[in-house]
Amino acid sequence: MLSPDVLSQVLERFPGTMPLCGELVDQGACQWDCCEFSGSYFLLLPGEWESALQLGYGLDRFEVLDADYFGGRKVESRQDGCCSAPGGAQRPYKPLDCRLYPYWYQPREGGDMIRMQAAACPMMRLGRADEEHRTRTALVAELLCRDPDVARFLREARMTPGIYDVVPGLVTR
Ligand code: SF4
Repeated sequence: MLSPDVLSQVLERFPGTMPLCGELVDQGACQWDCCEFSGSYFLLLPGEWESALQLGYGLDRFEVLDADYFGGRKVESRQDGCCSAPGGAQRPYKPLDCRLYPYWYQPREGGDMIRMQAAACPMMRLGRADEEHRTRTALVAELLCRDPDVARFLREARMTPGIYDVVPGLVTR
């Protein structure tokens, strides 16, 4: 289970937004698209919900769809738009699902991991990946997978169909 201590360490590595996102928005290539998805859900790792609460984050934005989805949670947003928009919780929690976006990882037996990429993100469409973010997400995925509950969750859980592509041959090591 993801402890408050590990969650805190991981959150420190992700400020929330990437400068490249702002650049693409300024260029008209993106309208903060990932905050506007409809018909999708978020995945929270085992222990992520509880640890976020213990760290003082607000989760009232989320409606729980499944409180025991492979040990984690499947939730949806009660409102459209960014979690940091005015009118929300005092200290809104941005899930790791969003912080790692447009990447997600699935560990395989033997230790390597498959990297998935969100085809809908303009970074992917325009071939303008943020290398620093990609490296950071891979390192964090490895750190998270040291926890057997999290590793099992990442192996079994499925993101919203159609959002992520598994890129054949793309493994982290
Ligand atoms: S992650 Fe992709 S979809 Fe989200 S704001 Fe950045 S460029 Fe846009």
